[in-house]
Amino acid sequence: MLSKRIGAMAVCLALGGFVLIADQAPSRPADKPAPPPRTPADDGFTDTPMLPQQPWRVHDPKRPHPPVVTPGATAGAAPSDAHVLFDGRDLSQWAHRDRASGRLLDPKWALRNGTFETGAGTGDLLTRESFGDVQLHVEWASPSVIDGHAQARGNSGIFLMGLYEIQVLDSHDNRTYADGQAGAMYGQWPPLANAARKSGEWQTYDIVFEAPRFEGATLVTPAFQTVFWNGVAIHNRKEVMGATVWRTVAKYAPHAAELPLMLQDHGNPVRYRNIWVRRLGSYDRPER
Ligand code: MG
Repeated sequence: MLSKRIGAMAVCLALGGFVLIADQAPSRPADKPAPPPRTPADDGFTDTPMLPQQPWRVHDPKRPHPPVVTPGATAGAAPSDAHVLFDGRDLSQWAHRDRASGRLLDPKWALRNGTFETGAGTGDLLTRESFGDVQLHVEWASPSVIDGHAQARGNSGIFLMGLYEIQVLDSHDNRTYADGQAGAMYGQWPPLANAARKSGEWQTYDIVFEAPRFEGATLVTPAFQTVFWNGVAIHNRKEVMGATVWRTVAKYAPHAAELPLMLQDHGNPVRYRNIWVRRLGSYDRPER
């Protein structure tokens, strides 16, 4: 008898649950139309004109689709195809070149609380891997305690290919020559705007760099840089005059298609965090 009662209760509970679930289920409109069947036009057209200087028609169905990249979960987070150069844990992607021997050594930059810091005369940092055309994300902060002025306050630098600098400097209420302030293509072009945050606050650079092309000793195409500083466009595919120099005019010297990125040790403390890079491929790469 007891088992019958328990069985009856279970049936009631189950039915009650069913009713509850049925009540909570979203209503589906009975007249919702079925998706239309795909047609050849969904994939493009074969009767359209050819695009000038391209091997494709307008809306060409044969044109390769771009690779899928999952964006970072938050602004500034590395996308799925990024090469992460520093995620706060270690400096294994970086090396320090010994000036005397030219040998690559483990970096001596101080690593703490998910950041690392230059400025102790420990030398420039080079990536162990080489890069050419890239998208580069870097976060940096000058000291909150102000020490020094002009070029001697929070000076470091992002050197694309180890040669072409986007200046890192504390440029909040810190006057210096325009083509040497933060965001400048140093000694060549000031930034279009001074988007500096206050001393000690974290700042971002998002850089698109097109490497120069050489044929033998001849420059075929110069480098170009597009830069966003804290989200503000400060260079718009600006032509680079040559490798960064001080107090003279930059010029090019032929070099490899890919070279290490470099962070400058200018003797001032500057912190870095969250650094990643993506190699930029060409359009219309074959689908995998
Ligand atoms: Mg510098």
